[in-house]
Amino acid sequence: MKHSSVGLGTAAISAALLVMLGTRGVSQQLPKGVTPEDLATNNKLFLELAIKGLKWEEPAEPVRIAGPIYFVGTWGLGSFLFTTSEGHILMNTGMPSSGPMIVASIRKLGLKPEDIKLMINGHAHIDHAGALSFFKSQFGAQLAVMKDDVAAMESGDRDDFKYANDFVYPGLKVDRILRDGDTIKMGEVLLTAYHTPGHTRGATTWVANVIVDGKPYVVAFPDGAGFNPGYRLVRNPIYPGIAEDYRRTHHLLEMLKPDIWLAQHNEYYDLEGKRERAKTEGLKAWIDPEGYRRFIAEKKRAFEDQVDLELGAKKSAAQSAAQPK
Ligand SMILES: [Zn+2]
Repeated sequence: MKHSSVGLGTAAISAALLVMLGTRGVSQQLPKGVTPEDLATNNKLFLELAIKGLKWEEPAEPVRIAGPIYFVGTWGLGSFLFTTSEGHILMNTGMPSSGPMIVASIRKLGLKPEDIKLMINGHAHIDHAGALSFFKSQFGAQLAVMKDDVAAMESGDRDDFKYANDFVYPGLKVDRILRDGDTIKMGEVLLTAYHTPGHTRGATTWVANVIVDGKPYVVAFPDGAGFNPGYRLVRNPIYPGIAEDYRRTHHLLEMLKPDIWLAQHNEYYDLEGKRERAKTEGLKAWIDPEGYRRFIAEKKRAFEDQVDLELGAKKSAAQSAAQPK
């Protein structure tokens, strides 16, 4: 039997990471050999396990989601293409290795990566911003980024408040600096950028207004609400005010009422389940306002539980959920 470098099966790693990333029932166990402390303190191990367990660097089938919005990401990571009469917009690019996979997906849809005019991003970490510079150098696409993530994006995320220089990727010049509430209008697509800091200082939630078969739809791409293993949410000397930022972000995300929601990690919004149902149900399969509400509520609860844990007030969500109710 083949083993990964830490001697764990892919499924076990995946389950463990989903627990750590707060996206599944928290009563699952971590696999043998890796403790929560390992994931919190060993950045390289965390990244290695996430890449393998959540298949961040494996190709996936592209799919049209709604009107001008297409999924073009990898198995684990969400990248999205918006097609307009004035060119394409690409949101998120996955890991540095993901560029050619995204290009192949776009071509498979019968579209041209050469038509990408603008790139936008959820936040400045390697698993979403990793291949932005690839698209800029290959196709000359411009990049628009929220003000507080500009420095991170241009340096390839050097001096990250959690990852320091462990998750560095090729940085690139930002062409347009965004502020909270800024909009991008290209052809028939309108995108609004909301500053939702916490996960990174400039994390950005995008909301798209699109028309499909004559009907308007609101599509949200929530970002910034989750914390990774080892984040310090209270008294963070490198990011003072992080907890206040998260709480403002949760509040803003609660106020959004999207019809459809997508995200930078595919398991969050159940890409595979919805893709399957869409084969028979069409657009209806992607309509999920309740799933969005639940997702934000889970992120908020996980955050407040972690704050309590750091303050020593009570057991972690994982510990309490493991108790019989
Ligand atoms: Zn991240």
